[in-house]
Amino acid sequence: MLTLQKFIERINSRAEFDGLVRFAESMSLHTTFKTGGPADLWIQPGDCFPGYVPFLLREARAGGIPVFVAGGGSNLLVSDRGIRGITLDTGGWKGVVKTPDSDRRGPEAARLEFRSGTQADEAAETAAALGLSGLEFLAGMPGTLGGAVWMNARCYGHETAGVLAETLILDENFECVRVPKNVEEFSYKKSPFQKRSAVIVSVSFDLVPRPAREIREEMEAFRLDRKAKGHYRYPSAGSAFKNDRKFGKSAGKLIDELGLRGLSAGGAQVAPFHGNIIINTGNATSADIRKLILLVADRVRAGTGFELEPEILFAGEW
Ligand SMILES: Cc1cc2nc3c(=O)[nH]c(=O)nc-3n(C[C@H](O)[C@H](O)[C@H](O)COP(=O)(O)OP(=O)(O)OC[C@H]3O[C@@H](n4cnc5c(N)ncnc54)[C@H](O)[C@@H]3O)c2cc1C
Repeated sequence: MLTLQKFIERINSRAEFDGLVRFAESMSLHTTFKTGGPADLWIQPGDCFPGYVPFLLREARAGGIPVFVAGGGSNLLVSDRGIRGITLDTGGWKGVVKTPDSDRRGPEAARLEFRSGTQADEAAETAAALGLSGLEFLAGMPGTLGGAVWMNARCYGHETAGVLAETLILDENFECVRVPKNVEEFSYKKSPFQKRSAVIVSVSFDLVPRPAREIREEMEAFRLDRKAKGHYRYPSAGSAFKNDRKFGKSAGKLIDELGLRGLSAGGAQVAPFHGNIIINTGNATSADIRKLILLVADRVRAGTGFELEPEILFAGEW
């Protein structure tokens, strides 16, 4: 711990830094499951992000210190043992980078660029205020835009890749590179970033004009639908398992039909109101949640022969 303390003191004395630095920061404060042990060194850079982070990453690599990038923690199950090394939280790096250039023609006339730590719901609101359509489906979805691109998050018939124009990333050599979307590299819950260790710095979307009132009505309908489905009732990470066409039905339906709603392990429970949501009923540990994920997958394998793939990502030291 002392070594990491010295490391960050040295880095922050040599590079311009604004933001938050904490040692042994409980990840239960930064995950929607509200579980997870300590991040050895948790750093949330603010405006210094694009200049500071490459320096930090380069020095961390030189020092053999692992780095984990966390967005809103809404798709993460962080182990109770926590995360070794540095956890780089993008939540301080938020807001619009560039609004559409009205002098341009073609798609760039409605291209909106956000910092990657912007909450998905806030981005949808910003687009609505500008009378730009395309991000409505993100209304009410927890997490950041960086996480939405990394996961190729999807709902209500739309996926993030559908509106994505390009990303600005810090590549594996810590260079800032613009990456135009290659549609072939995205598919159901898959993005090219899952095969890389790049940091998504900003995200640009190609949107289309639409009256703000209509956009807001649709967004409100999505938020209400999520509320009605119980999405915000308990801490969770949304869908626990991926869907797969070969199931012939949703993963949630498979789980429901086996009567697994309400099944529990410690403080973790298959939501009584939704087969594909695992909830923290109040005192769950990450170990409870993991145990339940594996138990449900076992029961589904035994009952149907299908292999469920967790959508929730396991992070930290298991
Ligand atoms: C109530 C609820 C409802 C949900 N509904 C949906 C839904 O309808 N559809 C859906 O697809 N998902 C849903 N989710 C899951 C989750 O909200 C999405 O997957 C979201 O896009 C994750 O974003 P995040 O910022 O929280 O990412 P995190 O969970 O923090 O991270 C996810 C992954 O992205 C990586 N990552 C994050 N930011 C960056 C970055 N800037 N650079 C590089 N890597 C990065 C992380 O390292 C990690 O591997 C739901 C979750 C909850 C709690």
